[in-house]
Amino acid sequence: MLSLTFPILNTQVWTSSFFTRCSLQSLGLVLHLGGHSPDQPCLVPSQAETLVALDVTGIHPLAVKVCHCHQTLLL
Ligand SMILES: [Zn+2]
Repeated sequence: MLSLTFPILNTQVWTSSFFTRCSLQSLGLVLHLGGHSPDQPCLVPSQAETLVALDVTGIHPLAVKVCHCHQTLLL
């Protein structure tokens, strides 16, 4: 089970007259999962897939890419 404690899951965007809820995925954020540091991103990530996070505020789709380096090394 993956536990995420992102207070940023409850994001909102200004629509020129009011704030409305939106997902980080709709804003273009892509989470990169793997053992890479932020300054050395994965060179062979997967295609972006949707991971759905649930919490008391609702359902939050997140775009994620997974490291595929270990599969490249086995070929
Ligand atoms: Zn990688």
